[in-house]
Amino acid sequence: MSTAIEPPGLSETQRQIVELAREFARTKIEPFAAEWDRRAYFARDVIDELGRLGFLGMCAPEEYDGMGLDTVTYLLALEEIAAADASVAVSLSIHNAIPTTMLVRHGSPAQKDRFLKGMARGEVLAGFALSEPESGSDAAALRTRAVRDGDAWVLSGAKAWATNGGTADLMMVMARSERGICAFVVPTDAPGYRPGKPEDKMGLRASNTVALALEDVRLPADHLLGEEGEGFGYAMEGLDAGRLGIAVQAVGIARRALEHSVAYCAERRQFGRPLREFQGVQFKLADMATRVEAARALTHAVATRRDRGEGTTMQASMAKVFASEAAMWVTTQAVQLFGGYGYMRDFPVEKLFRDAKVTEIYEGTSEIQRIIVARGLYPRG
Ligand SMILES: Cc1cc2nc3c(=O)[nH]c(=O)nc-3n(C[C@H](O)[C@H](O)[C@H](O)COP(=O)(O)OP(=O)(O)OC[C@H]3O[C@@H](n4cnc5c(N)ncnc54)[C@H](O)[C@@H]3O)c2cc1C
Repeated sequence: MSTAIEPPGLSETQRQIVELAREFARTKIEPFAAEWDRRAYFARDVIDELGRLGFLGMCAPEEYDGMGLDTVTYLLALEEIAAADASVAVSLSIHNAIPTTMLVRHGSPAQKDRFLKGMARGEVLAGFALSEPESGSDAAALRTRAVRDGDAWVLSGAKAWATNGGTADLMMVMARSERGICAFVVPTDAPGYRPGKPEDKMGLRASNTVALALEDVRLPADHLLGEEGEGFGYAMEGLDAGRLGIAVQAVGIARRALEHSVAYCAERRQFGRPLREFQGVQFKLADMATRVEAARALTHAVATRRDRGEGTTMQASMAKVFASEAAMWVTTQAVQLFGGYGYMRDFPVEKLFRDAKVTEIYEGTSEIQRIIVARGLYPRG
């Protein structure tokens, strides 16, 4: 059973892409997700298979071997993956939204040929390293250094919680030069690129999250993206796209918790009746369904605005804060509806509950999203 509602007016091609994602998620991800979670196993083979099907090139233009999807179709496909496993979804989301967007918008033709094509074809997995141990929300305070040495750049510093960082082929790394914050394309086989061991996390356990030590990583000059000192703006553009990916990841998690709850409440009997016949239970299910719909509708509305070429910084933050808090609320209700079983690893909702939490934290916490929304209300300061 799926409670997903497709927006009207999808073309046959769009519908086929969503159907392909749904089928892949149902057969090749969801049956294994609990085991990957238990073992904290990063399923690179599954990501590679998704890559061969084009899902690492969803946001890259066709001329660079991507699918060139509109944002709504991209988000519909990502929701299907997230509903099966949020860990697989976050790898896809970061790769498709952040380094891809940054290269599409600011890469030179040579950089697009060399890096973007491989990413879009699914041969190269990418990640994004902005956060540092001392700078998370205040990302612009980052301390990683980029020093020009002849015709090379030398990066040194420490990054925190880089998704895909221990398994990716390429990372978009943010570092500070004399002229300000810059973005660099860093192949992970560069000498001095040292990922730490995977973090032991509450949820999203099958995603790869690592600290990075950058020990005099030497890069040819043409690995600088765009203009020196302009990288922070590029990263924020990437995050505008990224936050929609996290919003829809939250929608996928919440939707799956709702679907499990609807099925469980029809089967589980107490006081001689199925739970679904108690009005107190019906009201919970109704509120869960309403929040899932509202979160998806807001996220798609922002995606449509983005596809029209309009600014979405404030709106993407609205979608992320609303959808992630909806996911946390919906998964909390799901655990409650499952009662004691909801607290057990043998049942699926406790994983959804753990996975939901991080959507309120990464790519900007809920507090940071609210700051961005409030700033948008007073555009002239
Ligand atoms: C699983 C996971 C994966 C991640 N993946 C990546 C990745 O791929 N790349 C990457 O660069 N980073 C990644 N991150 C890092 C993530 O983006 C940061 O954790 C996040 O931005 C918050 O930063 P922080 O943890 O340093 O918290 P802090 O900034 O220290 O914040 C702590 C608390 O203070 C609040 N706070 C801070 N400033 C304010 C303020 N001005 N007003 C009100 N409240 C405030 C925060 O909202 C939060 O509640 C990941 C994190 C996790 C957990």
